[in-house]
Amino acid sequence: MSIALTAECALCSGIGLVVSPEWMAWHTKPHGPAPTGPEEVPCHDCRGAGYILTDIGRAVQGLIDRTMAAHAQREHQADDYRAEAAWRESVRREREERDRDYQIAETRRMAEDAEERARKAELVAEQAWRMRGL
Ligand SMILES: [Zn+2]
Repeated sequence: MSIALTAECALCSGIGLVVSPEWMAWHTKPHGPAPTGPEEVPCHDCRGAGYILTDIGRAVQGLIDRTMAAHAQREHQADDYRAEAAWRESVRREREERDRDYQIAETRRMAEDAEERARKAELVAEQAWRMRGL
């Protein structure tokens, strides 16, 4: 069993072209000058395709259209999610960098404080040593 999705266009017999109405009228009653437009124009029933969709063909076409639309929507959603994930990642990285910079600065400050205290302790020890020597 075969299911036809398309059928030959009855109007143009599958050619896709028909004689234009002006030329048709002139051929039927050839008086006066011939029409200036093209004699053959795209068939208006099949839009120049030469075939039309059967009922089943239209149903399949509808199914394809809906599937494609749903797919496009999912793709669009996936793009949105990807963009959001990238944004979150950049925010996280920025925060990490800020925290690290803060910790480095804090550690440096603590080291400077410790150095300062050591210097003062040394001075106090020197003074004590000198006073004892007197
Ligand atoms: Zn046709």
